[in-house]
Amino acid sequence: MLDMKWIREHADEVKAAAERKKIGLSVDELLERDQERRKLKRETDELRERRNRVSEEIGRLMAQRRVEEAEALKAEMKEANERLTALETDLRAAEAGFAALYELVPNIVSPDTPVGASDADNIELKRVGEPPAFAFQAKDHIELGELHGLIDVPRGVKTAGSRHYYLKGAGVLLHRAVQQLALDLLIGKGFTPLEVPLMAKEEAMKHTGFFPLGRDQAYRIDEEDRYLVGTSEVPLIMYYAGEVVAAETPIRLAAASMCFRSEVGSAGRDVRGLYRVHQFAKVEQVVICRAEPELSEALLQEITANAEELLQKLELPYRQMAVCTGDMSQKTYKQYDIETWMPSRGAYGETHSSSNLHDFQARRANIRYRDENGALRYCHTLNNTAVASPRILIPLLENHQREDGSIHIPEALRPYMNGMRELRPPY
Ligand code: AMP
Repeated sequence: MLDMKWIREHADEVKAAAERKKIGLSVDELLERDQERRKLKRETDELRERRNRVSEEIGRLMAQRRVEEAEALKAEMKEANERLTALETDLRAAEAGFAALYELVPNIVSPDTPVGASDADNIELKRVGEPPAFAFQAKDHIELGELHGLIDVPRGVKTAGSRHYYLKGAGVLLHRAVQQLALDLLIGKGFTPLEVPLMAKEEAMKHTGFFPLGRDQAYRIDEEDRYLVGTSEVPLIMYYAGEVVAAETPIRLAAASMCFRSEVGSAGRDVRGLYRVHQFAKVEQVVICRAEPELSEALLQEITANAEELLQKLELPYRQMAVCTGDMSQKTYKQYDIETWMPSRGAYGETHSSSNLHDFQARRANIRYRDENGALRYCHTLNNTAVASPRILIPLLENHQREDGSIHIPEALRPYMNGMRELRPPY
């Protein structure tokens, strides 16, 4: 959410952001609705004030037994009340119309964000590590998963439909190992771990900026009128919603949680394997800090570096991308993606997404702090994946396979894998 006064003064910037983020919002209509509701609000307030004055006057006249004059005023009062009822109805309708447009307003983007239409226009900033050059016919993660008994997609589909899977045996160990490694890495860096609710109320989805535009991505639990979260960013941000926080030092939060996504709109995309599924686990980093652009920029670098450190521990080649306007969500001010090399795709695939939202999300969630002058200000918020599994199992299995079918386990994972140095069937 942006401040409405700011929007009035920077309408062109907001129009450009809506256009570049492909959000169907008419800023002109928003401004008209804003004017209309403010005019109605003024008229309603003035009429209420007049009615109160007249009511007092009637009281005074009655006390002085000036009944005739009081009766005349009562007629005026009746008329004012009728007019007020009509005005209040109009005001409610105008407020609702305005709110429906206001919640579509996008965040503006940082000056260094590339302008582009889709992920094809994201800009590569750097590459780290070398993709392996296999001198043998490499297998993809599904073949490796079957060979080692780690992944079972057909039975996942049997139980829950497309984009579902089972992990088994060492597949489960790997899935949990990457998460525990990520969580331990973050705890070592001062992040507070939280176990979070995986269902959220509609207002939580709105306050964190996932509704209304992401509504079709969420699973709704009908009888409960709640939604399964698509990321622990929702409960992590909601933890402080409506509060005034102590932000002398940035608040660093982490959660390992399941995530549920309908993936509406992805029909036919990434249908093979574990890349795009309806249910996955993610260790998420969320940071809440003072509304100082240099500070939140430094924190964006920090949480991005945390993800890089994890990938280096997993001995995986990756690249960092500057995400362009057309590939950004409504709430994002600046975003990096990290893409990890996936041999079966012959390409890098997105594994991490690191965003600075400035005060857009905190304004929606009403998370504030007191600045050095004692004034209440909205915080800046940031988030990034630390690791998402099973997607990370794709590069992990595929990059670390050997000609004999065995799979190397990176040293950093071994303490979480009962000391296993490699996967080699049978187990
Ligand atoms: P996001 O929260 O959308 O920025 O996604 C963060 C990370 O979660 C992505 O970079 C992926 O690694 C992972 N992820 C997102 N959606 C899916 C999905 N449908 N299936 C598997 N992994 C996903």
